[in-house]
Amino acid sequence: MPLAATEPGAGEALIYPFGVAPAAGQAVEVAPGILWLRMRLPMPALNHINVWALQDGEGWTLVDTGMQLRDTAADWQNALAGTLAGRPVLRVICTHMHPDHIGMAGWLTRQHDCRLWTTRLEYVTCRMLVADTGREAPSDGVRFYRGSGWDDEALEHYKARFGGFGKAVYTLPDSYRRIIDGEELAIGERRWHAVVGRGHSPEHLCLHCPELKVLISGDQVLPRITSNVSVFPTEPDANPLSEWLESLASIKRQVPDDVLVLPSHNEPFRGLHARLDALIEGHEERLARVHQELAQPKRAIDVFSALFRRRVGVEMLGMATGESIAHLNCLIGRGVVAGDVDAAGVVWYRRL
Ligand SMILES: [Zn+2]
Repeated sequence: MPLAATEPGAGEALIYPFGVAPAAGQAVEVAPGILWLRMRLPMPALNHINVWALQDGEGWTLVDTGMQLRDTAADWQNALAGTLAGRPVLRVICTHMHPDHIGMAGWLTRQHDCRLWTTRLEYVTCRMLVADTGREAPSDGVRFYRGSGWDDEALEHYKARFGGFGKAVYTLPDSYRRIIDGEELAIGERRWHAVVGRGHSPEHLCLHCPELKVLISGDQVLPRITSNVSVFPTEPDANPLSEWLESLASIKRQVPDDVLVLPSHNEPFRGLHARLDALIEGHEERLARVHQELAQPKRAIDVFSALFRRRVGVEMLGMATGESIAHLNCLIGRGVVAGDVDAAGVVWYRRL
């Protein structure tokens, strides 16, 4: 799924102004007209996603929706009958296409006869990925992971799990309203700026309200977790880590430090610029460690220890490999590493 393991000890001093997170179906007002709700997630390492209800005239604009699960539908029904009651849902905005964010968008927009608003690449990529459900694992995917150093057992696991994305997403709406980077949206009385980031997902939407000094950051800026930045078999030469680092720097230029950040996981916090700096620094350190490892040629799976504190089990292997290749492709992009393919199709990376 979307996130890498929690990174303990990220040293920067962030402030968390809200004590207790809302229980499922409950809400906490974090700024005028902005309610914080939580939906459950089934992963032990990440058991929740934050979603936001923005007062929008007589109704609500919802930002992010939770994963398609029976629990999520029940949580939304409780919230809509309780805390959010009395106002209709007018619009559903999704920050990006990962199932914990967009999973219930189709259900909510159909229940409330309203539209999904998101960026074009998030909508289109999601349509593409859900269409994989029911297909067999493609040979391109097998070649990609074999090339990363996976053994037959890991490849069998990949084949058996292929297409899981679509199972966590309720049938998407067949049309949507596109949001463009830099666009100004009117939500109720307030103006929000669309701030697009790349690297975690193709065209990730953040929403900045200068008047309220609030940034809805999605997975682009999380306080206690490092967002997963991965290369996938559909685009083996992609360089999402460079895009990610550029996006973090760009957000620092565009959004002032004094905002309250509303992230999709963990808790609302203050200290945006310190967190952006720490995220950039963390990746630069990992890039340096990976580079260090490559005095001898290594495969993507051989540099895990430079990237992750925990042992990588088979469940995490896809994400870990994607993240490893993201760091390697970034180093290739910087011209300091090269990859050579051997007779078996395995890529060996070496320092230049
Ligand atoms: Zn995500």
